[in-house]
Amino acid sequence: MLVPPIGTIQYITHPLLRKKAVDFAVLRLDQIDDEVSGNKFFKLKYNLKAAKESGKKTILTFGGAFSNHIFATASAAHAAGLPSIGVIRGQDADLGNPTLRHAKEMGMVLRLVDRESYRNKDSPEFLDKLKEEFGDFYLIPEGGTNELAIAGTKEILGKETAGFSHICVSIGTGGTFAGLAATIKNHQNLLGFSSLKGDFIYRQISEMLAKYEIKPKGSHAVHAEYHFGGYGKTKPELIGFLQWFHSEFGIPLDPIYTGKLAFALWDLIGKDHFAKQSRILMIHTGGLQGNEGFSEKTGIILPAT
Ligand SMILES: *Cc1c(COP(=O)(O)O)cnc(C)c1O
Repeated sequence: MLVPPIGTIQYITHPLLRKKAVDFAVLRLDQIDDEVSGNKFFKLKYNLKAAKESGKKTILTFGGAFSNHIFATASAAHAAGLPSIGVIRGQDADLGNPTLRHAKEMGMVLRLVDRESYRNKDSPEFLDKLKEEFGDFYLIPEGGTNELAIAGTKEILGKETAGFSHICVSIGTGGTFAGLAATIKNHQNLLGFSSLKGDFIYRQISEMLAKYEIKPKGSHAVHAEYHFGGYGKTKPELIGFLQWFHSEFGIPLDPIYTGKLAFALWDLIGKDHFAKQSRILMIHTGGLQGNEGFSEKTGIILPAT
């Protein structure tokens, strides 16, 4: 795997930001690698190392047909010289979509499973069946969150980000949020925005912080009101915002995570949620590989660069 260059911090300017007297910058983790980009780079880093050291010859993981995690794991395993297996949700998943096509090109063996089996994918019975079929493997959970993933996401923030008052990130499983929570400074506020629908996320995050014994130095909060109908769901208003954001600032966003995050921040800035002189850092966690598949599926063109 490549050594992570620190993501570039890109400041943007706009009359709204001037009017509200806030700074807004984007930490471009989407630019750190073409294939293992965004937060997945950090989440996979120590897992790949552990997989190699474990002596297990294969990596196995789970994901949906358009999953950033599947895309990144296939690439990272390939780069590490490890065979990989992707267990994909839904027997109707399109093996020809850009995400799965790429995974296959990286040598990932793809196994489509019906939704019912997929729901039980963590059960010992299901895992035993996979072991019978594929032999022993190093398991990375769906979404990639485990202790080693969090160890990786603790490396996202550094000296360069210490001056920001607000660190803002999208939430899927919350693994990235947890790593950031462990490393924010006393004066920093961490804001997480769930891309899934439901209040369960508040508890999921507090349980995760407890499980990994993370006691944030600064303050942290989770927002659950910017899911746009749920995971993978979009609305014309969101798509319009992504396209506007790209034309205005030259920064591509994805409709699943980073687009919802940027929309939320822009909305909250407009509503005076942030005090004057706030210095807001939005973490761009990547996910742009999915834009091509999204365009193929919907006919809506979303820039990915
Ligand atoms: C996976 C992913 C997330 C969610 O990360 P978690 O650690 O699961 O919360 C956010 N943004 C992008 C672009 C992702 O691919």
